[in-house]
Formats: sequence, structure tokens, C-alpha cells
Amino acid sequence: MTVSPKLAAGTLALAAAVAMAQQSTQTPEQVREQHAPKEAAPLVHPIGGLKKLFHLGKKKDDQKPEPQTPEPVATPAKSQPATPAPSSTAHPVTARPPAPAHPVSPAASVAAPARTYSAPPAKAVAQIPPHPVPIAPPPPPAVAVNRNTIVLDPGHGGADPGARISDGLYEKDVTLALAYRLRSLLQARGFTVVLTRDSDAATNGSSSSQLTLDDRAGIANHQRAVACLLLHATGVGEGVHLYRSELTPAPYEAATLPWLTAQSAWVAQSQVLATRLSQSITRSGLPLVSSAASVRPVDSLTCPALVVELAPQTVGDPDTDSDGRYQQQAAEAITAALVFWRNDMKAPQRADEASAAAPGSASIPSASAVKP
Ligand SMILES: [Zn+2]
Repeated sequence: MTVSPKLAAGTLALAAAVAMAQQSTQTPEQVREQHAPKEAAPLVHPIGGLKKLFHLGKKKDDQKPEPQTPEPVATPAKSQPATPAPSSTAHPVTARPPAPAHPVSPAASVAAPARTYSAPPAKAVAQIPPHPVPIAPPPPPAVAVNRNTIVLDPGHGGADPGARISDGLYEKDVTLALAYRLRSLLQARGFTVVLTRDSDAATNGSSSSQLTLDDRAGIANHQRAVACLLLHATGVGEGVHLYRSELTPAPYEAATLPWLTAQSAWVAQSQVLATRLSQSITRSGLPLVSSAASVRPVDSLTCPALVVELAPQTVGDPDTDSDGRYQQQAAEAITAALVFWRNDMKAPQRADEASAAAPGSASIPSASAVKP
């Protein structure tokens, strides 16, 4: 699905409170610091396109009931005198089915005097269809999800090398190599894979400007993907590190989707995705660290999103980051989890659904809101 990238002001939010990672060998601050590029984050970002799309179906809320056509005035059953009688306002409405109070205009109530009019049979009155009862407007459209689309964001690139993992080995090269392996495996399983960059250069479209973190989030959000993985690498620790957003889960509210906390509607599903990936990585025999750390731009993503950081296969041997067999093992474990995730993922719960749900169930999104 394509979304016109209209520019509009996003809501400013100063969020992202820092919390301690529970199991990581690094604190969230260290993780954030390590993967932060040099550029300053813009204060506003294009999100209007998304919001506009979300609003497409809302117009139905404003639909008025159909204009009420004047109800046919029942005709007297018998011939009437030539002179209009005061009793002409008394309509033989008793044969009508119950209907909402319906104003009868004075003009309509003055029935034309029927001089030689032959009375229609009484059943003609009974055939008048009941007045249509206004029905409730349909609910707003569900949050759409492309279940066969995965977004991979190989961190850094071009002028931004990322971390220097060892002599001659930079993070940007490890993340791109891992992205290639993941793309190949995922495509073989029927996924459409969108990369925010597919070469060393990390440029913004046709321009030569460096891809910002918000650019990456914008690319990802337009895909409405079933999962978005932000790929990073480190020479510290071992195995695969998973980081999910630290935001508090919140129901989806399209009209007030702030850029810096947009992930809050998806964070519950991101947590489930982290669990699925953790199980698969552990099954594959690789060391795992899973915790919360709001590495930008994960908080701005409108999809189940995780930071996947590849650490050395062996502690103290950072060169293993670039080992092909090791990368393939990690990529296969991630792919295996995503194949099941395609059907497991649930769309975020809308605010109206959350308020209607029982207390305590707000973090459980409605499966009915997703189109397969
Ligand atoms: Zn990084």
C-alpha cells in the first residue's frame, strides 16, 4: 500500500523516560547512545499522510439519515362531500404499522376533495412500507496490516559507520549483511521485504542527503508491515540482543497519534513479538538478551517493532559479528519466528474498543480489527 507522503506537523512530545534494562549487559542509555547518529532529531515529521488515511472512513460518522420524504397521506376510504371538511385532518392511520412520530405538513394534511373519487381498497394503506428506522453508522475502518510485509532497517550506512566493532569492521556493514540474509530467507517464505537501505549508502530517496532516523521510521510506517526490525550490531556481549520500546501500551487513537510515542499503540504486540523471537533464538542455541530500551526511532514506529542487535558469537571475539554461518543461524531463527508471527499478530486496539472492553483487557487487541 502506498501512502502519499504529505507533510504535516506532528505532535511534539517529550517522552522516552529512561528506564534500566533488566537483563542487558548495557544500560538503555548506553544502547541509545551507541546507536544514535549524529544528526539532530527534527521537531516535526510527516505523519499527516497516515492520519489522513486513517480518517478516510470516518466521514461515515457524519452521515445523516436519509432525507425524509413526505409520507403519503392516507386517502379517505369513502367518497367525501365536495366541501373540505374540518375532519380531513383525521387520517385513517390506524392501519399503519407503528412508526416514529412523523410530522405531517399542513399542506399535505389538506387532502384534495374527492368528488367522484372511488375509494381505494383498505389494503392499499396497509401496503405503505414502514418508515425506515435510521441505523447506526458503521464503525471506523480497522487498522490495516499487510501481513506479508516485513520492514528491515539496516542501521547506519554511508557517512555514518555506526560502532567500530573491530579493526576494519564497522557496524553498518554487519547490519547490511544481516539484512541481506534476512531478506533472502523471508522472501523464500513468501514475504515482501522492504529495506530502508539496500546498499552502503543511506540516502533519502533521490536526494543525496543522509537518511535520518525519522526518514527510516517514515519509510517503515508507510508499509503497515506485520513487523519492523531495526538492525544494529555491537562488539560487546554475545548472541542476539532484542530491545523493545519502553512506552506504556495505549489504545490506538488516529486523531492524536504523536510522532514520538506512536509505538505505544503497538507496543503490546511488540512485546509478544519479542517473546516469539526470543523463543526461536533460544531454540537455535544462540545466547539471547531481551529487554526494553527505546532506541530511536522505535518509539515512532506504527507496527510491531524491535531492535535486533547482533553481538559477537563469542564474548571477547567481536570479529565473529561478520561470520557468515553465525549470521545465517541468527537470521534463520528470526525468520522461523516471523513465519508464525504473520498469522499471530493482532492489530492495535482502537480507543473506542478499549473503552468498551472490560478493565484489564485493554492491552489485548481485537483480532476482528485485522483483515487477513
Ligand atoms: Zn547501531
